Amino acid sequence: MTMMFYQGKRVVFLHKLVVWTIVFGAIFMLTRVPRQQIHQVSVAIGQWLTQNEILLIEKISANYPKIKPQVVVVKGDHSVESSSIAQVLRILHTQSLPQVEKSLALSFQQPISVYLFGSRNGYLSGLEHWGIRQTVAATMVNRTNGVANGSVVYIPLYANTLKGSLYNVLTHELTHVIFNQNQIARSIPTWINEGVAWMEGLQTQADVAKRSEMMLVKRGEAQVLAAFGNHEGVSLTSGENAMLQAPYDVELEDYMAVTKLVHTFGWKNMVHFMKDSVHEGPDTSFQKVFAESIRHYMNEFQKSLHQSKI
Ligand SMILES: [Zn+2]
Repeated sequence: MTMMFYQGKRVVFLHKLVVWTIVFGAIFMLTRVPRQQIHQVSVAIGQWLTQNEILLIEKISANYPKIKPQVVVVKGDHSVESSSIAQVLRILHTQSLPQVEKSLALSFQQPISVYLFGSRNGYLSGLEHWGIRQTVAATMVNRTNGVANGSVVYIPLYANTLKGSLYNVLTHELTHVIFNQNQIARSIPTWINEGVAWMEGLQTQADVAKRSEMMLVKRGEAQVLAAFGNHEGVSLTSGENAMLQAPYDVELEDYMAVTKLVHTFGWKNMVHFMKDSVHEGPDTSFQKVFAESIRHYMNEFQKSLHQSKI
């Protein structure tokens, strides 16, 4: 309304100023997040984002311009609120990224893309576009609250509504990403990868919601022990299908196996083992750091679960 009082050249000048501010602002924002990267990840799930959505993502990401690694948080489906993007970016930059880099003494090497899904259908089609078989993807929708592949993370927001749960899952998946980017994921057994990701995720959850973190562990451990009591326990090295069909969360079993090692030998030795596995292989590194073979440790651990001695 105040523009009404300006006349002639002053109006033209102001008009030009506004236009150039918008143009330069847009160019400035576009330099912050690689457009190529956003397009690549949106093509990966067969969905092009609208221009407005790209601008919005860039605008929010621009709040964290100098922080490495570069993280792009993307709407995986249209039911995701824009406020969730800002919330996830905040958790990543203030909690998950620093926590993971510091405790594992590793750095992220490449940019990270995080897709948020607000609906089961959105999550399902995201997993299918990732190349996961439909039957497995359907089970994953029911049994996972996050998944990482390379440097891309999928988070179904509707499955992470408990207090601290979003902190937990983001840190958990970022642990997988840092392992992927540092060749550790392909060097260590899956149960150690998952167990350490659980430790990292629970640590961040405990920082904001100690009670719910304790409840989660207590309930999960009780389910593992009950399953082994009923002869329904599965091996630490069981395949994907056995894991998805087990009557309990098999990753809790991984977590218990890793925490037992950490309680005995200390966290530094766990980090040491993982780093040395890249060059020496997991068997040699495990034997050197923990003074026994992986196979022997796994056998003894599972025996203790059968006898409920944990
Ligand atoms: Zn995991």
